[in-house]
Amino acid sequence: MVVRSQPSNLRADVIVWQLIVWWLAGLLISPPVSAAVVKRSQMHMGTLVWVTAVAPDNTTAQRAAALALEEIKRLDQLLSTWIPTSEISRINAAAGRSPVHVSPETMEVLSSSLEIARLTDGAFNICVGPAVRAWDINAGGRIPSKDELEHLRPLVDLSQVILDHQLQTVFLAHPGMEVDIGGIGKGFAADRAVLAMQEAGATAGVVALSGDIKTFGRLPGGERFVFGIQHPRREPGRLLARLELENEAVSTAGDYQRYFIQHGIRYHHILDPATLRPARLTQSVTIIASEGTVADGLDTGIFVLGPTKGMALIEQLPEVEGVIVGHDGAVYVSTGLQNRLQLEPDIAPAYLAP
Ligand code: ADP
Ligand code: MG
Repeated sequence: MVVRSQPSNLRADVIVWQLIVWWLAGLLISPPVSAAVVKRSQMHMGTLVWVTAVAPDNTTAQRAAALALEEIKRLDQLLSTWIPTSEISRINAAAGRSPVHVSPETMEVLSSSLEIARLTDGAFNICVGPAVRAWDINAGGRIPSKDELEHLRPLVDLSQVILDHQLQTVFLAHPGMEVDIGGIGKGFAADRAVLAMQEAGATAGVVALSGDIKTFGRLPGGERFVFGIQHPRREPGRLLARLELENEAVSTAGDYQRYFIQHGIRYHHILDPATLRPARLTQSVTIIASEGTVADGLDTGIFVLGPTKGMALIEQLPEVEGVIVGHDGAVYVSTGLQNRLQLEPDIAPAYLAP
C-alpha cells in the first residue's frame, strides 16, 4: 500500500509545486490587482462638483482628481455669465457692436449648442437668458407680462448668433442679446475634466456637477458605476430608477430644483423658446450619451419638446438613450434602456402610441 501510494503522493507534491511556481511567475508577469481611489469635491459653476479618480497608485489618483477640478475652474472662468471678464460675458457685452475673439473651448461649446438647437428644432436655445431673468426664478420669482415677454422676442433669435470658425470669433448681431450656456456647460465641463483625469493617468473615474455626470472605466473590483435618477415628485433622495454606467455620461433636467408656485401653478427655470414661458409638457428628462455635452444639451431641449417628440428624437439618435417623465407623471423609457434600467418596484413604464 505504502509503495503503491508513493508515486501518487509524489505526483501530488509535483502538482502543488508547479502551482506555486506558476503563481510566483504570475506575480512577476502581472502585478497584483491594486488601485487607489481618490474622491474630492469643490464648489464650481455654482454647484458642488464631485470627482472620483481611480489610478494604479495614490499619487496618480490624487493628481488626476486635482487636475479635473482645476480644469472645471478654468472653464468656469471662460464660460460663466457671473464673471464679468469671462469670454461669454465679453461676447454679451459686445452684442450688436463687434465680434469677439474666443478660445477653442468657448467656440466648441457654442457650436455644440447650435448643433443641439438644430437637433431639437430650436427647443434648445442659448439665447433665452434675458427671458429667464424676467422670471427671476432664483430670487423668489415673478410672472412677467405678455408685453414684457414679446419685447424680449428679438433677443432670442438664434440666427443672430454668428460663429466664424476661421477667425474664431463670435458675434451677437442684435443689441441686448446674450448667450447663456447654463443648459449645456456642466456636461461640457464634465467631458473636459474626464480628459484631464485620463491624461493624468487615471484608469477610471467619475465627474459629477450636480445632475451632470460623466464616467469612464470601472471600479477596481470590476463593478460598473451605479447611478440613481431622482424621482421628480418625491422628496430628495427618493429614486425613480437606478442604472449602471460605463464610459457614458448621464444628465437630468427637471422642474423640481428651481421653481416657485403661484396660484397652484409651478413656474420653473426651463423656458420654451416658442412662448418664453416655463415648458409645460415634462417633469424631468434623463439622457444617457457617450458625451456629457450631448447629454446635458439634449436633456434641456428634450424637456421642452416633451415625451412624444422627445422620445422620437432619442430613438432616432445613435448612442443616445433616455427616460422622460411627462407632466402627468407617466414614465417613458427608450428602447435601448428597457433591459438596463431598474425602475423602482412601484413604478411602471408607460408607452407612447405608435
Ligand atoms: P441645471 O442642471 O443647471 O438645472 P439644465 O441642463 O436643466 O441645468 O438647464 C437649465 C438652464 O438652462 C437654465 O437655468 C437656463 O439658464 C438655461 N435654459 C432655460 N431654458 C432653456 C432652453 N430652452 N434652452 C437652453 N437653455 C435653457
Ligand atoms: Mg441641460
